[in-house]
Parts: sequence; structure tokens; C-alpha cells
Amino acid sequence: MIHHSCDRCKRVIDPIEDLRYVVKLEVQAAMEPLDADELEDDRDHLMEIQEILERLDDSDSDLIGDDVYQRRRFDLCPECYRQFIKNPVGRETPAHLGFSQN
Ligand SMILES: [Zn+2]
Repeated sequence: MIHHSCDRCKRVIDPIEDLRYVVKLEVQAAMEPLDADELEDDRDHLMEIQEILERLDDSDSDLIGDDVYQRRRFDLCPECYRQFIKNPVGRETPAHLGFSQN
């Protein structure tokens, strides 16, 4: 039997008692279309990235730089899920708002 633990607080998630939340995160560098003049200079580089991204469709590769593409998967317990979904991008919250409004 597989035991999952929360990736945030490391607590073991009881499959009977607790819901387990799976967060799938996909981050990809956004490449804006460039002007024709600039395109000439950057063409090789852009094609390179395009090829890398196309290759990603076929297989999960570890060769891709973290700054171009990342895919992550997290298991969260219900409590950490609630904290995460309030602030998924880790935005700093003003202290006076607090979290304790049960
Ligand atoms: Zn947790």
C-alpha cells in the first residue's frame, strides 16, 4: 500500500481519514513574437527552444533548463491545500490579515 505524505508539512496523509490533494504545476517561459528585424538575429535560438518544447510532448526530459520549462507535482494534505489555494503564487500577505479565521 502506497503511503503519501504532504509535500508541504511532511505529514503522512491517511487515505481513509484525509483527502489528498494533487497539485500539478506547469511553468513555461513565455516567448513573445518579435519584430522581423530582431527575429533574424534570434532565429536560431528561438528554433532551438521550439524544438525543445516539441520534444517535451514526446517524453519527459530532464535536459530542459529549469528557466525554460518546469513541471511539478505535489501532494497536499487538506490543511496545506487550504493554505496553498489562498495564495498559490506565494504572494506576501500583509501581517494584519492573518490566517486564523476559522
Ligand atoms: Zn500538509
